[in-house]
Amino acid sequence: MTRPSASPTRARRLLRLLLLLALVGVGGYLALRLAGDAADPQSDRFRQWWQGDDEQRQALITIQRERCDGAPFVLPADGFIGLLYGDPRGPYSAAAPHQGIDIFSPGEVGITPVYAATDGYITREASWRSALIQRVPDDPLQPGRTIWLYYAHMADRDGNSFIEPAFPPGATEVFVPQGTLLGYTGDYNGDSLRDIWVHLHFSIVLDDGRGSYTNELEFANTVDPSPYLGMSLHHACATDVPACTPDPTCTP
Ligand SMILES: [Zn+2]
Repeated sequence: MTRPSASPTRARRLLRLLLLLALVGVGGYLALRLAGDAADPQSDRFRQWWQGDDEQRQALITIQRERCDGAPFVLPADGFIGLLYGDPRGPYSAAAPHQGIDIFSPGEVGITPVYAATDGYITREASWRSALIQRVPDDPLQPGRTIWLYYAHMADRDGNSFIEPAFPPGATEVFVPQGTLLGYTGDYNGDSLRDIWVHLHFSIVLDDGRGSYTNELEFANTVDPSPYLGMSLHHACATDVPACTPDPTCTP
């Protein structure tokens, strides 16, 4: 007499148990995500920007066209400074957090001006549709070293550029004083299918020691823009709506 390997009832019971475990796992994960979001006021601000009416969106906007007291740079665009430096929110992560700040524009593409944060030399690689990089030969906060300022997303979804004609593709080392109009914000995201909101990505990138900039996509190659702009812009030190603060640095 042969013994059946597993009775249909036992198999069903096992399947039910596995299903239950999967449900508990997914439920737990969602609960943790929700709890995390609830504890993160910046998530509320994103919701307010996404779903709020005009007045609620306006309440999130930083307008700062002058340098903050004691800060060397001027904010390159007005808007909702939503994604801060070091933010691990998607598509970023704790291991590869956001390398700069994202300043979201309230209007359509091609309207919100982008200005040079400081004096320096603008370069636009021949293939760049939406980005500029600016060489600052003498870091005002660490004299003697070169830093680079990266401005991105100044084109529409199809790659039509909103960069000023003074900086055509291939332009190198065009000197601009602080406050020079560089272009207008857009929602270009390369060939990625991921939709992005109209914004400027701004970051401070380290020099490679050989006359060029390091890879601006690597967090380790960038520095916290907070002391340069005189605002608290590190994810770990988020304030309600960033504005000039006497001591913008904190220890994350
Ligand atoms: Zn960004």
